[in-house]
Amino acid sequence: MDKQFYNDTGLMIVKEDHVCEHFEPDAGVLVPMRECWCCKWSNFRTDGEEDSFNSYSVCNYVGNSKQAVNK
Ligand code: SF4
Repeated sequence: MDKQFYNDTGLMIVKEDHVCEHFEPDAGVLVPMRECWCCKWSNFRTDGEEDSFNSYSVCNYVGNSKQAVNK
């Protein structure tokens, strides 16, 4: 199993070809491939986002965010 990485707000960092069971096609994609690039929860196509760089994005699906480990 691949190790997952998270940004400083706890959102999972994903690559274009990653996919998970929560995939939902983005409304702006004509032919949605089953990968994060075409998923409505990623922000690859958002300009000016600090978290979107090169071929990486964050996943905004709350179920994929990092769980708090401190009580
Ligand atoms: S962007 Fe998030 S919810 Fe969508 S397929 Fe990738 S990991 Fe899953």
